[in-house]
Parts: sequence; structure tokens; C-alpha cells
Amino acid sequence: MFDVCIVGGGVAGLMLAHSLPSTLSIAVLTKEDPITSNTALAQGGIAASLCAEDSPAFHAHDTLFAAADHAYAERVESFVYEGQSVVEQLVQEGLPFDAGPDGLPDLGQEGAHSARRILHAGGDQTGKRLMQFLVHHTKGKVTRFPFHQALELIVEGEKCTGVLVSDSKGERKTIGARHMVLATGGIGQLYQQTSNSAVATGDGLSLAFHAGAVLEDLEFVQFHPTVLTLGGKSCGLISEAVRGEGAFLIDAVGQRIMEGIHPLMELAPRDIVARAIERHWQQVGPVYLDATHIAGFEKKFPSINSNCQEHSLDPAEQLLPVRPGAHFHMGGVQTTDSGETSVPGLYAIGETASTGVHGANRLASNSLLEGLVFAKRVATKIQSSPHFPFAFLPVHSAPSKEFRIPENLPLRMTEKIGILRAKEDLQQFIEDYPLRHFQLHDYPDNHIAQIHRYTASCLIATAAHLRTESRGGHYRLDEPAKADKWTGKVIELSLKGTAVSERKIKNEETVQ
Ligand SMILES: Cc1cc2nc3c(=O)[nH]c(=O)nc-3n(C[C@H](O)[C@H](O)[C@H](O)COP(=O)(O)OP(=O)(O)OC[C@H]3O[C@@H](n4cnc5c(N)ncnc54)[C@H](O)[C@@H]3O)c2cc1C
Repeated sequence: MFDVCIVGGGVAGLMLAHSLPSTLSIAVLTKEDPITSNTALAQGGIAASLCAEDSPAFHAHDTLFAAADHAYAERVESFVYEGQSVVEQLVQEGLPFDAGPDGLPDLGQEGAHSARRILHAGGDQTGKRLMQFLVHHTKGKVTRFPFHQALELIVEGEKCTGVLVSDSKGERKTIGARHMVLATGGIGQLYQQTSNSAVATGDGLSLAFHAGAVLEDLEFVQFHPTVLTLGGKSCGLISEAVRGEGAFLIDAVGQRIMEGIHPLMELAPRDIVARAIERHWQQVGPVYLDATHIAGFEKKFPSINSNCQEHSLDPAEQLLPVRPGAHFHMGGVQTTDSGETSVPGLYAIGETASTGVHGANRLASNSLLEGLVFAKRVATKIQSSPHFPFAFLPVHSAPSKEFRIPENLPLRMTEKIGILRAKEDLQQFIEDYPLRHFQLHDYPDNHIAQIHRYTASCLIATAAHLRTESRGGHYRLDEPAKADKWTGKVIELSLKGTAVSERKIKNEETVQ
């Protein structure tokens, strides 16, 4: 029994552990080793307004603009203000951000940010360095459970009191806690094409759904235009910077695929480039990134170059096959300002949570910041919450049922619930794969892992079917524009069914 049990050890889970007092007993569960996560893959950086020419108000403005009239305006504002102080805290605690000659963090600029506000650590190693820092700072303070897979949340009465897990030997045990926290990350692995780590299988969505929590904004998935794709498999991200240096997108006969699509060609907005690449794959065939004319590629892009070399590709000599891949999930488990879900005793943070700050589309480098800010808020909330008495945890009988995920589900997700969505496809998908409630503990462990993937896929498809418009990361071929009737409307899914709620997307008093 623990005071706090955190399922997930990426930026969100570890920042929460770091922010809680050491007087509390804290468990951190990770499905694989303690490092494997999307956090460890983050190359870009962390956004925070730290320089004189910038302000949290500008950061809020850029975040709201990217969010396509769907972010929760008041939350965006408090998020960027707190973001500034949480990053300052990390600087003071010694996180080795890259610094300029004056010793202050060297701030970079990224597309859609109106000021220099991206902090990096170790160049493109920001995520790795952040993980190392947080692992170091939580040493001795938490009990780690690596290779422990969360199978089912335990809800007694109305309250979440623990989690059923499969341990590193494949044995089942229950871990009880006064406060349960989901920090299980994203959903990229539900798709055939993705930039995400192997652990990003949407487990948090399924765990929360089966525990009775409300989920929201699930239709909003951000796709990265250029994921290196070999033999149908995703082999790592090729950042926008490569196109920024002049790489072309061409097809098998050397034709530039962006010709006639956008005057900025390869430098058109990310979603336009991604849709053009995906359309070409579906209607014509493979798309390649031609970077052979970029002088000194290996020096300019050392990580991308070494990843290509590991896959026996030399960017200086060869074309790089690329396809859009699922990159970031804006939606997730619905949470309050303090990270509480609709199930008492259960919190959600990081990519598995929906805080409303990304709206329909995330501004680059805002997700690590979201993990940091909301983890701190949950730490504060937990300390001021009543300590429920420990509960008796149920013992379940041996698993007796079977479930196997349809083999081609990730491919169907990419083709039908991916970057281009059509009404008939969505309809067919939800008929073929209906959203169901499973008594999770009745199934063997590896079947539960498949149920989590299945449920998370169905949740996204159901929400995508319901939203009859295009907005941010959700693009419908049959409804290719934003619709006023959907502005400020949030699709909620839970065991009780579907609901549509209102979100305040403007805060006239303070945000321009
Ligand atoms: C290639 C790439 C580059 C990116 N670059 C940036 C960037 O530059 N800046 C930025 O802000 N964002 C970036 N992002 C997004 C950002 O990295 C993620 O949104 C963020 O790291 C998510 O953190 P998290 O703590 O929520 O989840 P993660 O870091 O993914 O951690 C999830 C944890 O949950 C555990 N887990 C999952 N399921 C279970 C289960 N059933 N049982 C037990 N444990 C479980 C995993 O083992 C893992 O420890 C990038 C993402 C990718 C994929």
C-alpha cells in the first residue's frame, strides 16, 4: 500500500514524484524499463517565455492560435504563467539546459512561436536529459516497479483505490494507494505509422474508460509529416529542420509532390504537407525525402544521420522514404485544473490527460511543459486532499476469457482514422470494431494489453465519427472546413455513453 501510486515514469509521472514530499510513500510503475517513453525521444525542447522580448501573454496567444479555437482559454493562460516558473525552478535545480555565452539558457525559435522561447538540453537530446535529471532527483524517494504493466484500475464504491498489475515475472498483484495517478503517455502505437515509443499504446485511455472516467477530445491526433518508413514500419522521426535546409519531397519518378499544392512547397504548414504526403501514398505510391544536395548533412543533423545509417540508409547518397505518423494526442482523460478525473481518487497527467490547453492542435514544445506544470498541480492537490483510509483490495479468480485484437487494426487506424478521415470509413470502422466494456481481470495479461489497444482505437474512432467538421488534428474529407456549430463543443465519452459539453475558448479580459 502506498500514499501515491503513479502509473507511468515519463516527464509527467517523474515530475509528480519529484514534487511530492518525501514523507509520502510513492510507487512509480513503468511497463518497460524506467527510461523507455515518449519523453526520452523528445528532440525539440521545452517552451517557456524567458527572454525580455517575450511574455506569457505572447506564449498564450500562440498556443491559442495553434489550438484552432478549441483550447480552454483560462487554462492556457495559467499554464504558460506556471510554465515560466516551473522551467525557472528546473534551471535553478541544475537541469543542464544549453546555455549561451552569458550563461543563460540559449533560447531557440520554432515554427508558430512568435518569440525565441525553446529551451534545449544536449542539442536534440532534451527529453533524454530531462529523464536523467528526474530519475536522479527521485532516487531513494520512490519505489520503482519496472516491467510492471497496469492491467485494471480498482474502483470500490465510487473511489479508485489501486491497480491490478502484471509484474516482471508475469505474476498478478494488486497495489493499493490513497491516490492513483495515470501518467501513461500517448497513443501513437495504435497506428501503423508513428513517431512514438513502443510503450505509447493508449493504455491510460482504456484503464480510465473501464474505471468509469470521462474522456474528451479523443478525435484530435497530431500527425508528423515525415516519419522514416521502411517496409511499412516506422523507423524514427525526420524533423522539419531537414526540409528547412532545402530537402525536397518527391515520388518514385522524381516529381516534387508539393507542386501545385502550396506556394511554400515543402515549407507549407505541417498539416498541409502531411495530408499531401498521405494522399500521395494512398493514391499513387511512396514519397521520399531527397536530402542528397544538403552539404554536411551528417554535421547538421547528427541524430537523424545516425538513425538513417542504423537503417542502412545514407542521406547524402540515398532517398529517404517518409510517411506521416501519429505523433501527439491532444485528447485524453478529462481532468480539472488540478488533474482530478471524474473518478474520485484518480488523477491523470501528461499526454494521457486532456487538460484543454492544446485544444485541437498542440503548439510545438508545449507538451513537455504541460507534463511539468500539471504534475506540480497534482502534487499540490494531493497534499491538500483528505487521506482516504486504505481499502481492502479484491482477489480475482483466474482469467477465463479470451480476446485477440484484429491483426490489421493499426493499418486500419492509419488508413481510416488517420490523417484523412471519411464518413463511410468511420462508420464502417465503428461497426466492425464497436466500443465495448470488458471485465478486464477475466482475461489473461497479454489479452488485456490487446484490449487496451482495441479500446483506445475505438474511443478515437467513435469521437472522430461524431465530429462532423475539420479542426486542428481532426480532418474529415466529407467536411473539410471548421463548422461554427462545433466551435467550443467538446465530445465526451464514458461508460455512460456520449455527451457534448461547452468549453470557454475565449477570455476577452486578458487574452487578445
Ligand atoms: C519523437 C518525439 C519527439 C517529441 N519532441 C517533443 C519536443 O521536442 N517537445 C515537447 O514538448 N514534446 C515533444 N514530444 C511529445 C512529448 O515527448 C510527450 O508528449 C511527453 O513526453 C509525454 O510524456 P508522458 O509523461 O505523458 O508520457 P511518456 O513519456 O510516454 O511516459 C509514459 C510512461 O507510462 C508507462 N506506461 C504506459 N502504459 C503503461 C501500463 N499499462 N502500465 C505501466 N506503465 C505504463 C510507460 O512505461 C512510460 O514510463 C515528442 C514526442 C515524440 C514521440
